[in-house]
Amino acid sequence: MKTVCLISGGLDSFVSAGIARKDGYELYGLTIDYSQKHKKEIEYAKKIAGFLNVDEHKIITIDLSFLSSALTSRNIKIPEKPVTGIPVTYVPARNTIFISLALAYAENINADAIYLGINHIDYSGYPDCRPEYIEAYQKLINIATQKTVKGGRILLKTPLVSLSKSEIILIGNSMHLDFSLSWSCYKGEEKACGKCPSCVIRLKGFEKAGLKDPLEYK
Ligand SMILES: [Zn+2]
Repeated sequence: MKTVCLISGGLDSFVSAGIARKDGYELYGLTIDYSQKHKKEIEYAKKIAGFLNVDEHKIITIDLSFLSSALTSRNIKIPEKPVTGIPVTYVPARNTIFISLALAYAENINADAIYLGINHIDYSGYPDCRPEYIEAYQKLINIATQKTVKGGRILLKTPLVSLSKSEIILIGNSMHLDFSLSWSCYKGEEKACGKCPSCVIRLKGFEKAGLKDPLEYK
């Protein structure tokens, strides 16, 4: 059994891939370099792929710098505190783009599943992280590929979709994942900033889980 795991370099996709391995899959990692400001996460994705001993790790480059998002556009600043509603860090249709690449890769290697670390509890502002989105995408997959129209299955698995950050951290901890290999900060500086929405959610998650984040902060 093979699965494609989207590995961003962040904590959630690390835990999601860890669960895939525990579920008995051979792991095929996929990391997307989409001109994100925090390119540093790609180096962490490589470390995670090594830690999980994946069978293959593909890093694909697509230039999304034309999109208006705080993560890709130099003209939009990364917020220094958590925001409500759909945040400026939302990248237009990002998960739809990423899952389509994962699907192509999955069909190409005859994988049975795609594991995604998306979560709608702590990122409720992102429309492409909700359970109804995943359900609709699964329906698309079922009619979209040669494998699936011939009766094969490619399951879109999102084991973290309804978990809180602290629950995700506790699951990862129970699998002995080394979180110092994961990067969450939206700013790609030497140390994590500790202030951007992603750092704040991560730090609160560790605190609630009663664990210490091994990553170094400014
Ligand atoms: Zn940060």
